[in-house]
Amino acid sequence: MDAKAMNCLTYGLFVLTARRGEKDNGCIVNTVQQVTAQPNRIGVAVNKLNFTHDMIMDTGVFNVSIISESAEFSLFQRFGFQSGRDVDKFDGFSDWKVADNGVRYITAGDNAYLCAKVVQTLDLGTHTLFVADVTEMEVIGQEPSVTYGYYHAHIKPQPGQSAAGESAAGESAAESDGKKTVWRCKICGYEYVGEELPEDYICPVCKHPASDFEKVVG
Ligand code: FE
Repeated sequence: MDAKAMNCLTYGLFVLTARRGEKDNGCIVNTVQQVTAQPNRIGVAVNKLNFTHDMIMDTGVFNVSIISESAEFSLFQRFGFQSGRDVDKFDGFSDWKVADNGVRYITAGDNAYLCAKVVQTLDLGTHTLFVADVTEMEVIGQEPSVTYGYYHAHIKPQPGQSAAGESAAGESAAESDGKKTVWRCKICGYEYVGEELPEDYICPVCKHPASDFEKVVG
């Protein structure tokens, strides 16, 4: 069995937003799909470690902004590389509006948004699958929707560029001390310094498991 077969699946990327009380928040997901057309219904699997997950569990309402190829890396940093438990992800950010359901959606770097109301949840262990009816939707841009592959090839800073290190781990540990063993998250660029990466380690930035880390120095 070759687990790399899973890498042949294609994915889009989305900003998943929710609002609970006076708190607005959002995260990046790659797991939105339409599951039925009548009614218009979507499925979204969300990692339980994400603050947005808890907000949707409580409110049953969320929006999906469909990220396009025009998105800046900063959009992924803002919504994907930090936690809404620690920061206000909308602080200093003005590219959003409020939809009829009271939840924000993104107005730059995306081409459409969907508003959704949860009709069913399925506990998947690490994730919850939210099945939701689309209650409102609009096209807001003409750029092609981004794919996970396009993001890795064209938007995410390549090795040697500084943005990923700055966003995820401050000064690059690999460059600051070549003698240490460093494990780098292949998803977001976060660097863990240590001889061995614990098997159950989870990236504190993007929440991917130890299997998505590669040894870069040591
Ligand atoms: Fe990561």
